[in-house]
Amino acid sequence: MRSRLLLSTKHISLLASTPNRFWPAIAQWSYKSVLLRNTRPILARGFLSSVANNLVPGTRNLSESNSSKSLTLEEQIPNLYIDKLPEGSETTPDGYVTASFYSFFNIESKSLVQLRYDLLSMNTHLDKVSTRYKIGPQDPQFLTLLKAQIEKDPHPYVSFSIPIKKIQIVTGRIYVHELGINAQVSFDKEYVRAFRLMLETIPELANKVPAFNFALANKRAFKKLHVRIRPLVAAGQDLSLDILANEPEYLDPSEWHRQIDNLQHNTLQKQGGIQNDSDTPVLIDMRNIYENKVGKFVGAECPDVDTFREEIDVVKKMYPKDKPIYMYCTGGIRCSVAGAILKSEGYQSVKTLRGGVVAYGQWIKEKDASSTSPVESLYVGLNFTFDKRLGERVTSDVLAHCQQCGQPNDTYTNCANKTCNLLFIQCPSCKTEHLNTCGSKECIDAVTHPHSSKKPTIHSYHERIRPDLVINH
Ligand SMILES: [Zn+2]
Ligand SMILES: [Zn+2]
Repeated sequence: MRSRLLLSTKHISLLASTPNRFWPAIAQWSYKSVLLRNTRPILARGFLSSVANNLVPGTRNLSESNSSKSLTLEEQIPNLYIDKLPEGSETTPDGYVTASFYSFFNIESKSLVQLRYDLLSMNTHLDKVSTRYKIGPQDPQFLTLLKAQIEKDPHPYVSFSIPIKKIQIVTGRIYVHELGINAQVSFDKEYVRAFRLMLETIPELANKVPAFNFALANKRAFKKLHVRIRPLVAAGQDLSLDILANEPEYLDPSEWHRQIDNLQHNTLQKQGGIQNDSDTPVLIDMRNIYENKVGKFVGAECPDVDTFREEIDVVKKMYPKDKPIYMYCTGGIRCSVAGAILKSEGYQSVKTLRGGVVAYGQWIKEKDASSTSPVESLYVGLNFTFDKRLGERVTSDVLAHCQQCGQPNDTYTNCANKTCNLLFIQCPSCKTEHLNTCGSKECIDAVTHPHSSKKPTIHSYHERIRPDLVINH
């Protein structure tokens, strides 16, 4: 007993003298370490949370700052109901929705580790409420109990070093950085409010996350929740909130549709001479070449690039600063960044589609569902997505071809040989014929003899997205 107390005191003084941003990592290490291994978990947990709440200067204490019994949940969390599940969206058997959101604002670098742990704790909070009270998200008490649970034990992920091995309710990819947050997440649609509540309860994110941008094809698009501290997009240059403050002009889908429709008509009329007039706006697809191969706005310029950073350079080289620019991307963040860079460098007119192709596709669907005022989509084909779905359909047009037989097809796949991992378009019959692989002898061998010890071929990113496959007619 005596030795444990001595060790604990040592730990406490160690933690108290360490900058805050290191303590979650240290706490997790201490819990796993030999020093505390023989301590009953409950004591270790109590010790760590007392360190968290009382001893380390500046560590937040959620229960003090947030709870106010006289206020309703909605008064405490004004954004609780801002997310509107899209009407007329596909309902899939698993009941999942996929949503994205991003926002630029300052997060102190010393808070990022803590923020990451808070986000990673979300599935544990949900699990604790449902196992303790045996209720689900439909229960009217669920949100209140969830909030109380978070206040009581804000850092369960830190306290329990062994993650709960259950299917996670919230999955996806969240990037946090000094310049804000960028996230693609998937969750059972019953948990929309719970997910929003958990975000709003994290001090750095309260009132900072705009309404979710819901995807067109709703299904569980990720296996697990990953939270990383890294730049929100790879722009290839240093960004700052000052640069990002030079916002492009955001057009909602209906206004974007109107202006692009006009642009396409005018460009058609001008064809045969003056369409390169510097006054004539240009419509640019800001995505990589493999993304716009399967879908794009009619008439868009699609620079032949592998990455977003190349795209920005190409646009700067191709167009003078007085050229009016319309640009779009998948969910909007790339254009928010590229638009701000161009504006900060003197481009006069940069307009972008708010919420990207995802929001436009959603608007088209709503128009179709209302049936009184359907509009013809100016975007054709698929919207490529960087998750298990590898795309969601906007219109039935098929723009691409199977890269093995040449038949019209737009289904992206990754070679089943994980070390090869080429990204290419494959029709169902080629999928069967080549055993889900790119068709190379090496990859067919690898999937038919998984334990053979041949040296794997590892492709560069450039090779991976532009595979040189033989077409057999
Ligand atoms: Zn084929
Ligand atoms: Zn392969």
